[in-house]
Amino acid sequence: MSTDKYRDECGVVAIYGHPEAANLAYLGLQALQHRGQESAGIASGDGREVYCLKEMGYVADIFTPEALAKLPGHLAIGHTRYSTAGTTVLRNAQPFAVACNKGRIAVAHNGNITNAAELRQELERDGSIFQASSDTEVILHLVARSRERTLAGALREALLQLEGAFSLVFLAQDRILLARDPHGFRPLAMGQMELSGGQKSWAFASETCAFDLIGAAYMGEIEPGEMVTVGPEGLARERYCPERPRAQCVFEHVYFSRPDSIVFGRSVQESREMLGRLLAREHPVEADVVVPVPDSGVAAAIAYAAEAGIPFRHGLIRSHYIGRTFIEPSQAIRDFGVKLKLNPVRHLLEGKRVVLVDDSIVRGTTSRKIVRMMRNAGAREVHVRITCPPTRSPCFYGVDTPTKRELIAANNTVEEIRRFIEADSLGYLSLAGLREAVADDKHEYCYACYTGDYPTELVNIEALMTEKERRG
Ligand code: SF4
Repeated sequence: MSTDKYRDECGVVAIYGHPEAANLAYLGLQALQHRGQESAGIASGDGREVYCLKEMGYVADIFTPEALAKLPGHLAIGHTRYSTAGTTVLRNAQPFAVACNKGRIAVAHNGNITNAAELRQELERDGSIFQASSDTEVILHLVARSRERTLAGALREALLQLEGAFSLVFLAQDRILLARDPHGFRPLAMGQMELSGGQKSWAFASETCAFDLIGAAYMGEIEPGEMVTVGPEGLARERYCPERPRAQCVFEHVYFSRPDSIVFGRSVQESREMLGRLLAREHPVEADVVVPVPDSGVAAAIAYAAEAGIPFRHGLIRSHYIGRTFIEPSQAIRDFGVKLKLNPVRHLLEGKRVVLVDDSIVRGTTSRKIVRMMRNAGAREVHVRITCPPTRSPCFYGVDTPTKRELIAANNTVEEIRRFIEADSLGYLSLAGLREAVADDKHEYCYACYTGDYPTELVNIEALMTEKERRG
């Protein structure tokens, strides 16, 4: 992540067949905290009951030992959230847990259902009552309303009605069900742990960094269009819909995911290094130092520096704790803006020609502040290099990019953006370079925020735009 210009999306985790399921879900969520810092929740099951606890705030602050003691059982699901749909309130925090004709169930979701508004209207017309504004609750109602007798059957029926992006984890009294949308926008990985006595337990998570923490071995991805059930009978995989073209979010590799994760079966670190190397080849410049905008720019900047033969320096220091402050910042403090997060190292920048590597430019205002900050710290020249093409279109699949009106690249040329951010030069990685960096030779990624070419039909694009405008 660089400077939180994107509010992050969500992370999900699920554990089956472990006596400390909730504790492991908690550790998994800790590893996924970068995917959402607004709220977090865990639902657990012991074969008879479903227990659920969720709060606003950070994972570590919510799940004290006392809180975790209230989540018994050998199965658990967890969620860490930043709102990409629905407003910022506790009732939208996940998992959602209900009692219905399929028993007690809980659900957590990463992604964005693009036909949620239409489905919700239909459900409300038929008498469903919603407690929250999140699109995830729609899924729960579809499952509850289904005439199918089993939870798996009801979920299958519900999944076929959804459009957009979803990696879903469901918890019932004695089993866990998981599913990915047919295009596979959001990741969902499988892992396995061995208990003493040779017994196996299962782990699932948005990113494999969660597995490393809990000692689970990576067993591959849940495939797009696949549903997985793990219960007393063991683990079963099935395809619930016909095959569709894959559209894995390339931005997971550019920005969201941790470099120590495997996402969509590929090392994020490897992608980031390729981004930097290709960027150096496409946009070389004479300079004295290469400086990343931390954290997501770091791996790419190291590779840029190596490729260009220019020294790499940590010329910007990020404060990781500023979001955890208990004081409500006054307007005067808020005006410090990017200075709250980043501070330049004058000793490394003074008199230098700097290549500044970042993952993207959204509105341009943050980039301009960083460029000014570098100059104020003595940099002689600032050459901005971006590890992906210009962001020209909003995302409707779970990443909180702003509207087209606010995206600087939707309305300006690269030269106009360069002038706006006050850089000496500006270079974006090409689309071909981005595809090469993630080794996308089979056309399996989504690039819609760069191309405007959306992989799914957006039936009600006006409603989706209005929702984005409303949330600002
Ligand atoms: S539009 Fe961009 S951010 Fe959204 S899913 Fe596609 S690549 Fe990812």
